[in-house]
Amino acid sequence: MTRRISILGATGSIGQSTIDLIRRDADAYDVVALTGGRNVAQLASDAIALRAEVAVVSDESQLDALRDALAGSGVVAASGASALQEAASRPADWIMSAIVGAAGLAPGWAALEQGSTLALANKESLVTAGPILMQHAADHGARILPVDSEHSAVFQALVGEDIAAVERIIITASGGAFRDRPIATLNNVTVAQASSHPNWDMGQRITIDSASMFNKALELIETKEFFGVLPGQIETIVHPESLIHALVGFNDGALMAHVGPPDMRHAIGYALHWPDRRDLPVARLDLAQIGQLNFRAPDHARYPALALAARVMEEGGLTGAAFNAAKERALDGFIGGEIGFMDMARVVAATLDKMSAHDGLQNATMTLDTVLDTDRLARVRAGEAIKMTGH
Ligand code: NAD
Ligand code: MG
Repeated sequence: MTRRISILGATGSIGQSTIDLIRRDADAYDVVALTGGRNVAQLASDAIALRAEVAVVSDESQLDALRDALAGSGVVAASGASALQEAASRPADWIMSAIVGAAGLAPGWAALEQGSTLALANKESLVTAGPILMQHAADHGARILPVDSEHSAVFQALVGEDIAAVERIIITASGGAFRDRPIATLNNVTVAQASSHPNWDMGQRITIDSASMFNKALELIETKEFFGVLPGQIETIVHPESLIHALVGFNDGALMAHVGPPDMRHAIGYALHWPDRRDLPVARLDLAQIGQLNFRAPDHARYPALALAARVMEEGGLTGAAFNAAKERALDGFIGGEIGFMDMARVVAATLDKMSAHDGLQNATMTLDTVLDTDRLARVRAGEAIKMTGH
């Protein structure tokens, strides 16, 4: 029996790795919808090759180009936010949520209403709206499977285990591009330097977020929301080799580590075939050749994003939505040359200070609308903070 699958964010790094796995076994899948932000050429060629029902480009100015590229193929072309929601709502058995940023929340939310499986790479959905997203999935009988490598690793370490026996969850961090660079020089690094990761090949935004550890900050919050553990049970450790992705500590002192090559096709493939394991085209580790694995405590002066994550988990409510949006705006500011690398954390902290004092983040009711409103307001506040910080 073929499975109906859709990929939201098909043209990105996770989307392309997902397509790589699908194409190796194309007869097993009926591709429903592929969506992308702007890259029409990639979107159209994949939609044709996979015989998708519909291809959606978010940027409406690209609709004519998409129509031209799909002419005669039988794939329907569409564009804009409502077309993206419609694509996410088309009946499918498995939907990959791989749009980057808070833009992935509403499409993933719509996809959950089908009551099938959402493979969640878009960690921002859980950071901004974790409690209501998990409830929304439960209300519709849908399943969320983690795709982030650390969370897939934890999920795998928990198979057959009782979450009540878990003492702690440790997610590893590579330390990113600047782990050994003198802290005093960090505010002057370039966008190009921040866009290169020592171990993983990923989209630009998550790569820069890895250098600042905003990515790890998002993942700590993602761990709390997905696994329902307390903030004090979640730790991160710098592990430069990126071979252990996470460890789960149990109440009998055992630590279960998930070890594997830094290749997202493992976590994507696990979510695709779950609860089975299937052969995947990832490298097999030669431990004797690797020789040693290293660990060190994260340096909080180098990575101020980690303390911000602790603050978000403690304050709760809409703080996560404000945090993520401020982070996205600060990242735009860094990429656009408005602020330096270390200024990103200052902008996010200033945004949270301002919003928690005036906008009642902690006690507000969380709905999809209040999350999206908070997201919009936090981008404005972060823009103001950037003006005060700019160099
Ligand atoms: P990417 O930038 O390579 O791709 C993002 C995709 O989203 C593209 O298809 C892009 O066109 C689309 N997109 C961007 N902005 C959009 C918008 N406003 N509306 C609609 N579509 C939009 O990103 P990525 O590295 O593939 O990451 C995708 C998600 O997966 C992120 O949430 C990221 O944190 C998470 N993730 C990625 C990796 C990785 O290895 N790349 C690992 C773990 C988690
Ligand atoms: Mg990760």
